[in-house]
Amino acid sequence: MKKILIVEDEQRISRFLQLELKHEGYTTETSADGREGYQMAQAGNYDLIILDLMLPNLSGVEICRRLRAEGIATPIIMLTAKDDVSDKVTGLDVGADDYMTKPFAIEELLARMRTALKKQTKSSETPVLKGGKITLDRNRYEVFFDSDAVVLTKKEFELLAYLLMNKNMVLSREQIVENVWGYEYEAETNVTDVYIRYLRSKIDEKFGTSYIKTIRGIGYQFKDE
Ligand code: CA
Repeated sequence: MKKILIVEDEQRISRFLQLELKHEGYTTETSADGREGYQMAQAGNYDLIILDLMLPNLSGVEICRRLRAEGIATPIIMLTAKDDVSDKVTGLDVGADDYMTKPFAIEELLARMRTALKKQTKSSETPVLKGGKITLDRNRYEVFFDSDAVVLTKKEFELLAYLLMNKNMVLSREQIVENVWGYEYEAETNVTDVYIRYLRSKIDEKFGTSYIKTIRGIGYQFKDE
């Protein structure tokens, strides 16, 4: 059974969604508060989050931004009260999968939920990332260079996964920090340099490769071409 988190402070809408989703065979948990909803989204293993834009204590946009910065990829459908283009753009910019303008037809929301859930299943089916002779398996939490196991710490693993996901692209330190460590570390971009050094010693220096390139004045790139 798919578990859905509803973060919505309008009782009437929250109650309506709970009933409709239950009827469709979903289980639901709810919060009417931005901060609480954010903490639930962080801790709970939800299949999808329905997130209102205007919430007490923490806005839907900020919740979405934080979750994505923390690497939480749960599909998010944003609800906006007004037909305001800039709100929708902001929601999608910070990583929401879709948005609906209130009032909405429940059938439309259910259809978008099915699409978002399908997308999620697909992406979790491809947990293996490759670059050069490196294979990283996110389900098994393993890294190999050819057939040699490479032992990494959790942050080294996440950093390498992020580099491999964006293979051959130049990534700024800010981008890396935001995606691997989260937005609250934004000011400390030198953590990137430190962890890149660790990764290099465990991969490039150990195996005599040069996958991890320094792009002067910008950041780093995993290059296998
Ligand atoms: Ca609201």
